[in-house]
Amino acid sequence: MKILVTGGCGFIGSAVVRRAVADGHFAVNLDKLTYAANPANVAEVADSDRYAFVRACVTDGAALRAAFATHRPDAVMHLAAESHVDRSIHGPDDFMQTNAIGTFRMLEAAREHWNEGAVPGFRFLHVSTDEVYGALGADGAFTEESPYAPNSPYSASKAASDHLVRAWGKTYGLPVVVTNCSNNYGPFQYPEKLIPVAILKALAGEAIPIYGEGENVRDWLYVEDHAAALLKALCDGRTGETYNIGGGCEARNIDVARAVCRIVDDRRPEGAPRENRIAFVADRPGHDFRYAIDAGKIRRELGWTPSVALEEGLEKTVDWFLANEAWWRPLQNRPSAGAGNPA
Ligand code: NAD
Repeated sequence: MKILVTGGCGFIGSAVVRRAVADGHFAVNLDKLTYAANPANVAEVADSDRYAFVRACVTDGAALRAAFATHRPDAVMHLAAESHVDRSIHGPDDFMQTNAIGTFRMLEAAREHWNEGAVPGFRFLHVSTDEVYGALGADGAFTEESPYAPNSPYSASKAASDHLVRAWGKTYGLPVVVTNCSNNYGPFQYPEKLIPVAILKALAGEAIPIYGEGENVRDWLYVEDHAAALLKALCDGRTGETYNIGGGCEARNIDVARAVCRIVDDRRPEGAPRENRIAFVADRPGHDFRYAIDAGKIRRELGWTPSVALEEGLEKTVDWFLANEAWWRPLQNRPSAGAGNPA
């Protein structure tokens, strides 16, 4: 297939692009190249004859129509988004523009392309988050039937985009599939999110900031497992359906930070255990207590299960950051909240 991947220079989008090309697909990567993007994330496929790059903003309808007309994709995987909850609290504008309006423009450009009738089997996969469901207490897990209850500007903008995708499926018959996934981690994650922040602060001998008392629980998924799930949902998912994706690896933020410290201690031993440097900072407003995903539907219908458990994934991630200082060092000068944000 020729797949138009939006946000393919970001963390998850680049994993999708790398995997799609490795699987024999053609990936057209459409990305605005915001602070969160890094062309190095797709360096391993940049010279492939099954890869093309388009620099464009998803709010620019004319640029999107041109990209569809030039590349005539068989499918879309829409990942481009502003993705950092803290940023959405301090400056929600970009989130509304990119996540809500940008998804609207993508749907319209895709609909025009699909209406031309030349693309049998066309699919539009919209990549979203479990944060649209709000927060859980100590028990239970989100299913595809969980009501929407977003609590942050980020999750509200993603919820808006999910509703638009649903409506374009119902009203215009656009062949859409939606996925809602739990927290990702792994190689190439921009160092503003919890795990890369913890790794780099631990390595630098600096305080490792954790919100509140670190009690918030997330269900962690290794990014390459997510990319595999997305390609499965695109190829085999039922049109009009939503699939929840999760790692089945729940952990409190404090336990994730401690695990990272232990692994860094093991790889780069020094005097005192690095977990002594964990420092609690004032909690994020509206901080969701717990997310957990019931991934039974995608397992039953599409046969997808995560392959990397949390401890193993953390080891792979720490080892990747240790081996790829040339990737993360230049990012240290870019904007970074660095507050141990888990989402
Ligand atoms: P990211 O911030 O690492 O990357 C986002 C990419 O989108 C960047 O390359 C950026 O340049 C691009 N982009 C941003 N605004 C754009 C615009 N207006 N036009 C074109 N490109 C634009 O994000 P990520 O963590 O890889 O997340 C990707 C998607 O997955 C998002 O839709 C996010 O909501 C969703 N998601 C993320 C997680 C997670 O844990 N990171 C979990 C579930 C779902």
